[in-house]
Amino acid sequence: MSNFDKTREQFVIPEGQVYLVGNSLGLMPKGAAKRVLHTIEAEWGTMAVKAWNNAGWMDQPDKLGNRLAPIIGAAADTVTTGDTLSIKVFQALSSAMALRPKRRVILSDNGNFPTDLYMAGGLVNLLDSDYELRVVNPEEVMDALDEDVAVLMLTQVDYRTGRLHDMKALTKRAHDVGALTVWDLAHTAGAMATDLASNNADFAIGCTYKFLNAGPGSPAFIYVAPHLIETASSALSGWLGHAQPFAFEPAYQPAVGIRKFRVGTPSVLAMASLDAALDIWDDIDINDVRARSIELSELFITEMAKGCPSLTLASPSDPHKRGSQVSFTCDYGYPLMQALIADGVLGDFRAPDIVRFGITPLYLNEGDILQAVEQIRQIVDAKSWDKAEFHARKAVT
Ligand SMILES: *Cc1c(COP(=O)(O)O)cnc(C)c1O
Repeated sequence: MSNFDKTREQFVIPEGQVYLVGNSLGLMPKGAAKRVLHTIEAEWGTMAVKAWNNAGWMDQPDKLGNRLAPIIGAAADTVTTGDTLSIKVFQALSSAMALRPKRRVILSDNGNFPTDLYMAGGLVNLLDSDYELRVVNPEEVMDALDEDVAVLMLTQVDYRTGRLHDMKALTKRAHDVGALTVWDLAHTAGAMATDLASNNADFAIGCTYKFLNAGPGSPAFIYVAPHLIETASSALSGWLGHAQPFAFEPAYQPAVGIRKFRVGTPSVLAMASLDAALDIWDDIDINDVRARSIELSELFITEMAKGCPSLTLASPSDPHKRGSQVSFTCDYGYPLMQALIADGVLGDFRAPDIVRFGITPLYLNEGDILQAVEQIRQIVDAKSWDKAEFHARKAVT
């Protein structure tokens, strides 16, 4: 049984704050600071260039992929890490498109995170003019899957409302019409089990700085289903996805296996931080994390309905239909969130009117939830959000 009192002690919790924004940037694991310092001093600082061989830097992306695999329900040697999620969106999508050369449509929904749609649009612009990015409402995706669709590209958990797509059913329908799937797990990985293998997902991608707590700008990941790894190719044919990078051959020859989805030099310091963040998962089960997230989210929703009835729940009320965040719509959402942050309750705001609260059982407990609701209630009741300083927009909301 996972011990969440113990995991809480493994994080640096900012003094006097309730951190309900781990769905944006997870808190820092104590081990991450130590590990990064070790990598800087004992590896970079001592071995310098020799560390590529002697400290295992070159194998780190695949080793971390294998550490991540059980958390997202993937088999060994089907995941590798590197780059940023936006890059991985492009890489997975272009690979999947190339596997369906006669089809022209990428299907997605308008609840998807903008960068996913931007990257897909950029890819479409590079292709012939008959290619199309087709974007429908989330609830219309199932019916929009037809035999024109090459690739269904969806983010499993909606970043604004937390609404969860049915990965199994949509993947099945996609396969029935001959399409492939690219699942973005940005708000899934570390929040709930995904079972990529049993859901028959073709490609999956995600980031590690949200529910996996690997730090700002930490590496993204890509999963390719075992039966596709051999045939799929990476359009981002960087040298570290080459079979023999240090042969420096003029011709590109992809590496065997998931390694071909590597692109360039690994971000070693960020990889060190991810490695330390994954240590926490050695003793806990993702299913326990999910069960605990549901308990805490239900408590939050119930208490908010009592204490702050003027905020409207924007997330699905059925816990099995949402990820690990709770969102509300509120006309004065932006200044409210600024007032909350000033008061030590950290959430965030997503335009036009959503206040979001991430539920991260590794370091949150009932006391935090109750304290947050009480502080929200006081600010709403006293209208203390309505000050000029809270209305001024910051660059990151
Ligand atoms: C957070 C998030 C991203 C961010 O992409 P980066 O390249 O890491 O900035 C992309 N897609 C989704 C669905 C996200 O939630």
